[in-house]
Amino acid sequence: MAFDFATASEVVFGRGRLSELPARAAMFGARMLLVTGSRPERAAATLELLRGQGLACTTFAVSGEPTIELAREGVRLAREAEVALVVALGGGSVIDAGKAIAALLGNGGDPLDYAEVIGKGRKIDKPSLPFIAVPTTAGTGAEVTRNAVLASHEHRVKVSLRSVHMLPKVALVDSELTHSVPPEITAATGLDALTQVLEPYVSNASNPVVDALSLEGLSRAARGLRRAFRDGSDAEAREDMALCSLLGGLCLANAKLGAVHGFAAPLGGSFTAPHGALCARLLPLVIATNIAALRTRAPHSPVLERYATVARVLTGNRGARAEDAVTWTEALVSELGIPPLRTYGMTASDIPDVVQKARRASSMKGNPIELDEAELGAILEAAL
Ligand code: NAD
Repeated sequence: MAFDFATASEVVFGRGRLSELPARAAMFGARMLLVTGSRPERAAATLELLRGQGLACTTFAVSGEPTIELAREGVRLAREAEVALVVALGGGSVIDAGKAIAALLGNGGDPLDYAEVIGKGRKIDKPSLPFIAVPTTAGTGAEVTRNAVLASHEHRVKVSLRSVHMLPKVALVDSELTHSVPPEITAATGLDALTQVLEPYVSNASNPVVDALSLEGLSRAARGLRRAFRDGSDAEAREDMALCSLLGGLCLANAKLGAVHGFAAPLGGSFTAPHGALCARLLPLVIATNIAALRTRAPHSPVLERYATVARVLTGNRGARAEDAVTWTEALVSELGIPPLRTYGMTASDIPDVVQKARRASSMKGNPIELDEAELGAILEAAL
């Protein structure tokens, strides 16, 4: 057994702990870039809190999922303001934008020097500017991951900047910040969190630490996701989902994902669609295809028992079989109103291109069994 495990320098988790942000930020300097979402008024109270402690904040609002161009713009602004640290307060999009900006400030150069797949392959080998991540959605776990996902419209794909140097200094998770997330976004982000604790557990790069975190995450999602969707002010359910999201980030940063995320990268680059909704739509289909492929081509694979464990945790039924994970996730995705892929403009003629790109995606390499073009195409056809 051999594995590495790396995460944010400090994880601060708990209701109401946003109040600790100014003191933690002040440890890294007095001037910061505060990256916020498309509605900066949501960050107004936090800004007041930070300024009240004498911290100088330059704000940078991010609308939609971040792009290569947006990262360049953030770096320009941060340099002009001579900031000592970057704080991101928002969903995964905002956190990834902040994380990329902090890495570029520490390393110099352009995002395309470092981007995976489409970039020049330069290594991010110097520390980022100190970076604090404060998530306001419960989905991506980006507060503890070492990558930032940026879209390149030119290449019609989403790619990562990735380095152990990009791990945040502080991940501050206060589930009260997620109470205002509307049901549709709770559904998509929550199913992303569920996928991120499930895929590493059945991936070909799992390890015992990740296993323990995955199983805890699965049970939190099973308990909390429906409740958080139905009643956004249910503090316990929100806390379950904030924890599931954090655990998902810990898992994906220290194991691999699988075919769901292998598809999400090219789909997210080609169509304007929420990342979590794409993952959600594909999740039951990928589980079903993986189990069928394992039963035919690797019937003695221990991953089949892992899928049965997933089914037992999700359903709460000790006699559940691997296939029950498909039925359970299908029912959840339908109850939470996840739309088909055609909603985002995808048609059958897009399938071959997405399949080719998905086969090259880094997450696909973690899938427990290699799926062929026909299997991958059938998943997309069923998701349309
Ligand atoms: P998001 O950040 O795009 O936010 C979704 C929507 O929720 C936005 O409209 C936003 O304004 C709104 N929102 C955020 N917080 C809110 C709040 N508290 N109340 C009301 N509305 C709120 O969505 P996301 O799913 O958190 O992040 C998706 C991005 O993260 C994608 O680009 C995806 O590729 C990336 N991602 C990154 C990692 C990683 O490890 N770096 C992992 C998974 C996904």
